Amino acid sequence: MVKLEELLDLASIKTGLSKEEILLRIRNKQKELSGLVSEEGAAYIVANELGVKTKNRVVESILKLKELKPEMKSVNVMGRVKSIYGPREFTTKTGIKNKVVNMEVVDSTGVGRVVLWNMHDIEKVEKGLIKAGQVIQVKSGYVRESSFTNSLEVHVGSRGVLIENPDGILGEDFPKIGGVENGQRRVKISNLKENEIKEVRAAITAHFGNNFVHEMCENCNKKVTSGKCEKCGGTKTNKLLILNLAIDDGSGTVRAAVFRETAERLIGLKAEEAVNQQKVKSQLEKLLGSELIFEGKVKRNEQFDRLEFNIFNIKEVKTESEIEQLIGEKNGKS
Ligand SMILES: [Zn+2]
Repeated sequence: MVKLEELLDLASIKTGLSKEEILLRIRNKQKELSGLVSEEGAAYIVANELGVKTKNRVVESILKLKELKPEMKSVNVMGRVKSIYGPREFTTKTGIKNKVVNMEVVDSTGVGRVVLWNMHDIEKVEKGLIKAGQVIQVKSGYVRESSFTNSLEVHVGSRGVLIENPDGILGEDFPKIGGVENGQRRVKISNLKENEIKEVRAAITAHFGNNFVHEMCENCNKKVTSGKCEKCGGTKTNKLLILNLAIDDGSGTVRAAVFRETAERLIGLKAEEAVNQQKVKSQLEKLLGSELIFEGKVKRNEQFDRLEFNIFNIKEVKTESEIEQLIGEKNGKS
């Protein structure tokens, strides 16, 4: 009985009483009324007595993300969509092809995750009806503890409902999202547009240049070429590693610039070691053909009149398929 669970969860949170205690009150209420009301009917009476608001026998209360508890079976939450991951396809253990969408949402109490399992809601994402920046409401979602992120997630399954732009929301309850996170984060290279922050899954097809380490003024972070900063005259510098790559995902090719620690991680060399050009080149040669996930900002190179991708994070595809596997297992079980 979903409604009873819903009421128990809600009443427990709003009153601080245990679910057992509330259930006992419901049983007592039924006895008091000589068994003339159903368990559910008694539950609504008790809920009202406890000051838990219900309207037309529908639980209207929206939980804050911080109020979620593991194993809640029926919750309502609202939040502003921060980012959307997927839809991602996977195959269940029984061989059924399925899709899943992960969303990061925020409310006044923090950040949470919403996971969409049913095609009706996933189609809304695919059609762009649900996108980053928008406020959404989940009705009758269930809470799961993610072993992957160690946090609580609200799953929207066959009983759940996802509502975009719900009525009666107060903007200040849902902090505005900074940055340029519009729409889906993962795109094809051919769809990259100027100034967007996006991620692509692509292979490294080429590397350019011979000089990978640049001396940057410690004071003003400007490039120093003649041993002395042209701006401030300072001589103290930091070494900055920049790698220029071409990446390709089948839809197109884009020049990708990888900086600092991200570049150091990619080739496994510190900037100081990367002064040795031959070492860098041999590492880059090994990376040709590697498929990775690149996150970055799209910039226009005025000189060559083309778009370039300034990379701030590189992830292994391996991690992504691990998540897919986890999701597949989870779905296979339920
Ligand atoms: Zn300077």
